[in-house]
Amino acid sequence: MLIGALEAGGTNMTASIGNPQRGVMQRASFPTAAPETTIPQIVEFIRAFDVKALGIGSFGPLDLNPASPTYGSITGTPKKEWQGYPILSVLKQALGVPTAIDTASNVSALAENRMGAGQGTQNMLYLTVGAGIGGGILIGGQPVHGLVHPELGHMLIAPMEGDPMESGVCPFHRHCLEGLASGPAMEKRWGLPAKLMTDDHPAWALEAQYLAQMCANVIVTVSPEIIVLGGEVMQTHPALYPMIREETLRLLNGYVGSQKITPEGMAAYIVPPKLGMNAGVTGALLLGAQALEAETRKGNE
Ligand code: ZN
Repeated sequence: MLIGALEAGGTNMTASIGNPQRGVMQRASFPTAAPETTIPQIVEFIRAFDVKALGIGSFGPLDLNPASPTYGSITGTPKKEWQGYPILSVLKQALGVPTAIDTASNVSALAENRMGAGQGTQNMLYLTVGAGIGGGILIGGQPVHGLVHPELGHMLIAPMEGDPMESGVCPFHRHCLEGLASGPAMEKRWGLPAKLMTDDHPAWALEAQYLAQMCANVIVTVSPEIIVLGGEVMQTHPALYPMIREETLRLLNGYVGSQKITPEGMAAYIVPPKLGMNAGVTGALLLGAQALEAETRKGNE
């Protein structure tokens, strides 16, 4: 059985055909131009296959309230042409199959939970640190939606003393996580991209401190059973993992009573993703499969 997956990013949109068990069989990428250019290309590609459902992991923010008239639309993006674009309903109508949407981060979190580093957990956090910072939270095995959806990249963070950057790169907040710790923040602060920084560059200690603040905040609010940190910045410098673990322990200062929040437990608690760059597509396939299941269940009632 074939399922379609769309990874809708701000720069590129990748459509894939496959299923969660067997992975991807066909794939095509299109630049994210205006919707009237890009969406028909995606529809044409997917239509050539007999897909039974579609899962979409999209850039956002998104309207994910099923009761809302604009459910499945992109809301406040700085990409003007996509503001208010009803990506879910357009694709659902064009393809005529059960279709589901979530944020790219939630979709990747779902994949890591079902098939990656978070297997066996109910509550977890998945966060990518790259050109932006995005996080997905699962509670009871399902992505969290509430008022809107979590925006972990914009968690406010205390600037560290000695940080040479006056103000972060986020246009909305002076010092949120994305503003202080994303790839562009590192480049602005130090004048070179993270991938060119040597292992002894002071950037890494500061980066670990900011990411540890996020980890500590999430541990005391969401109480995840595991924290999965991915994205280009983490990949570039895996030595960040032990630094973040140590700093998170220091910040929590012995308060949280769990064997995982100890020097021994941390190595299996703040971890890299297992699916790597495939988390997004795997999660979108899983979401498509869930949409199909939900439709089948409705049909049987
Ligand atoms: Zn922000």
